[in-house]
Amino acid sequence: MDVSFILNELGEDREQYFNAVAPPIVQSSNFAFNKVSEMRELMLDEYKGFLYSRGNNPTLSILQQKLAALDGAEAALVFGSGAAAIFASVLSQVKQGDHIVSVRDPYSWAGRMFDVILPRFGVTTTYVDGTRTENFETALQSNTRLIYLESPNSFTYELQDISAVVKLAKSRNIVTIIDNSYCSPIYQQPIKMGVDLCLQSATKYIGGHSDVVAGVLTGSTEMISKIFASEYMNVGSGVSPFAAWLLLRGLRTLPIRLQRISESTLKIVDWLKKHPAIERVIFPMDPDFPQYELAKKQMQDAGGLLTIQLKAEKIEQVERFCDSLQHFLMAVSWGGHESLAFPACASMNVADFKAEEPRHRMVRLYIGLEEPGYLIKDLEQALATL
Ligand SMILES: *Cc1c(COP(=O)(O)O)cnc(C)c1O
Repeated sequence: MDVSFILNELGEDREQYFNAVAPPIVQSSNFAFNKVSEMRELMLDEYKGFLYSRGNNPTLSILQQKLAALDGAEAALVFGSGAAAIFASVLSQVKQGDHIVSVRDPYSWAGRMFDVILPRFGVTTTYVDGTRTENFETALQSNTRLIYLESPNSFTYELQDISAVVKLAKSRNIVTIIDNSYCSPIYQQPIKMGVDLCLQSATKYIGGHSDVVAGVLTGSTEMISKIFASEYMNVGSGVSPFAAWLLLRGLRTLPIRLQRISESTLKIVDWLKKHPAIERVIFPMDPDFPQYELAKKQMQDAGGLLTIQLKAEKIEQVERFCDSLQHFLMAVSWGGHESLAFPACASMNVADFKAEEPRHRMVRLYIGLEEPGYLIKDLEQALATL
């Protein structure tokens, strides 16, 4: 399906709402019926239509159709956060006594779920270095039900060979879930590579304006309708009609924002690589990236996240660089209009800083929609303080 059709037309039926160009925010908790038979139909299968807005809602439905189509999936659910999409999708696939193989260092709240919450229910997780597919195979047990992927991750960008892991999982009847937040569906479509469930934080590129927190989960109608009827409705973590509307608004400009971000990021990566105060630039679409060939094979492009490793002996130098930035905001998250800096040393105690640990000297940058020259000038003056 054409991306332009998906973003501009799919799911929209303007005659239903006064030919308004922008779909309405249907701010209603419940929906009325004329006949008991009509009500019964939805009471027995709420997935089919509009009964109550914890489940389906017309504004949300337009958004879900577009998000499913962007992923090349049959169906989508939108959650109140990416973390909720992670939790509901994993919970839906495991039961007591099951085992999960996860790529190591997944998104922090996915890790927290694997390490703290799931063990309380007898579900265990083995982490593997996902850069080698054999590591997944070695970690499999007779009770492994799920392989959890995140490719690339959002700090050092290691990839997994998605097609190879899917082939392994299918041969053993194991479900695969991937966190696709880094690429968004514009740059990577894991469902088309055979992954069962694909999730992303819509807070990042889909929303795109740093004003809404949400998550997306896509997959087959069979899997998604089951998750809807159980984890989604039970946890009650869907988005409000207004948040759905903000996400629809974000979607209209998704490809053009990403195109601009990717162009600027390449320019800035080139500039950073030549700077004497920088030891290493980590970016999946850089030819020096260790998995560059795999990145080119399974991703159409990369977005605006990259990481620099500063030449520094002291934490004060890393801090001085970040504190000196004038236009990059120091903040978590990414995917909005504004460029960001996130130093790894902000997540640790000062006393634990070790200059010999490359990770401690890493600063993740997100390149937003500003002019690249404007951002380079900012980086230049901040690097000069080193
Ligand atoms: C932000 C993020 C999440 C969580 O999404 P929220 O919308 O913040 O809950 C999950 N995975 C990755 C890779 C992320 O960057």
